[in-house]
Amino acid sequence: MENALSSTSPAPVTTMDADTRERNVWTSVRRGWGQTCPCCGEGAMFKSYLKVNDTCATCGTELHHQRADDAPPYFVMTVTGHIVIGGIFFVEKNYTVNPWLQLAIWSSVLILLTLWLLPRVKGALIGYQWALRMHGFGGEGYEGADLVPAEPKPHA
Ligand SMILES: [Zn+2]
Repeated sequence: MENALSSTSPAPVTTMDADTRERNVWTSVRRGWGQTCPCCGEGAMFKSYLKVNDTCATCGTELHHQRADDAPPYFVMTVTGHIVIGGIFFVEKNYTVNPWLQLAIWSSVLILLTLWLLPRVKGALIGYQWALRMHGFGGEGYEGADLVPAEPKPHA
């Protein structure tokens, strides 16, 4: 591949080339948080609550490369834990509230906050992975594609 910096006119992008166009991390993360495709921001990222579409229905970007795995629950637990535990301590220190009422309130807050955050955090993480071309999001021609099986190198 020619050095793009020395070329006077940009080479046409063909399907054989790796897509090396710049991907803005924050734009992708924001689109993922909004549960839309990190590439176009219009197609839906999920086909159900947390099930990721294989490809974007609007622009065709492959989304199946995502490897969010169990990172979204870790982040969500960290955030909700701090909010709920901090809230319980604050209420206990400053007010006198029936413990059963506290249990009802805080467990409801915990469940609703978790359900609200989980798809957003997962979407944001997938947007982050897409922007950094992780896990095959750069296409087969991209040198960072780590899910393409490596060819064994013969000894010289
Ligand atoms: Zn799209």
